[in-house]
Amino acid sequence: MIIDCHGHYTTAPEQLGEYRAHQKSELEKNAAAKGKKGELNISDDDIRESLENSQLKLQRERGIDRTIFSPRASWMEHHVGNEHTSKYWTEHTNELIYRVTELYPNNFIGACALPQSPGVDLKNSVKELERCVKEFAFVGCNLNLDPSGGHWDSPPLGDRYWYTVYEKMVELDVPAMIHVSGCCNPAFHATGSYYLSADTTAFMQLMQSDVTRDFPTIRFIIPHGGGAVPYHWGRFRGLADMLKLAPLDELLMNNVYFDTCVYHQAGIDLLLDVIPNKNLLFASEMIGAVRGIDSETGYYFDDTKRYIDNSRVSEEDKRSIFEANTRAVFSRIK
Ligand SMILES: [Zn+2]
Repeated sequence: MIIDCHGHYTTAPEQLGEYRAHQKSELEKNAAAKGKKGELNISDDDIRESLENSQLKLQRERGIDRTIFSPRASWMEHHVGNEHTSKYWTEHTNELIYRVTELYPNNFIGACALPQSPGVDLKNSVKELERCVKEFAFVGCNLNLDPSGGHWDSPPLGDRYWYTVYEKMVELDVPAMIHVSGCCNPAFHATGSYYLSADTTAFMQLMQSDVTRDFPTIRFIIPHGGGAVPYHWGRFRGLADMLKLAPLDELLMNNVYFDTCVYHQAGIDLLLDVIPNKNLLFASEMIGAVRGIDSETGYYFDDTKRYIDNSRVSEEDKRSIFEANTRAVFSRIK
């Protein structure tokens, strides 16, 4: 079996965008508006239509059996509005993922977004995580380390601020993919620089924290191939030494995993060379940040299964990346 651990509902029916536009227009009138949850009015047929010629078609073409599916990352936009805005919006997007998993139980496994809001405690996020795992059988969550959308004013991941979510993750035995959302700082391009900087930042923040000591069984996935981390593995190992930390294998590599959303062969080869096999989870993030065809290969950039198939690692290692490692990290997958 091949499990893609990183997919978002980027093709959701347009009523979802309309709901969000309405939320934003209400906030323009009154930024503190609590608003109401309201309805989405999306039919099962709307959902089928949104997936049949996109994610499902690509799953079939590429030989991917299951995708761990979560709300569109760039639309989480925790910086928009207030905690009520975020709560209603996130609940709707998670409920929509649940409906996808009910309509296509053999194709999609749910993971939730969390209703974070900058400067607000994580009580609502803990509640929503519990609801999604217990009521919807979701197997993981996306945790945004910078809910400000590019202004970086939240405490680092080692701060006690985050510990209520970590406690719930451990209690429910679910991992978090550390994933930022849309960016409102023009200095960053969302998927080109903001996402990759955030991935790199998450690793360094965890390095300088007590999180893995305080939560020995906690599991994080750093997406997009771990940002710059595998490429700069020597720098991070050297920093661990200089900062008198434990070696990375001990400090983080029983808790931190990288996905394979790296869109060229040489990048995947480096990732597979540098990072221990047990820490790698197959992912493509289709249909996501990079949607075109690579003129050098004639294949889609995000068809990452090809790169792993073509890599030099053993068949057993490939199987671990495609399935076993993901099942170990997302232990609630049935
Ligand atoms: Zn993503």
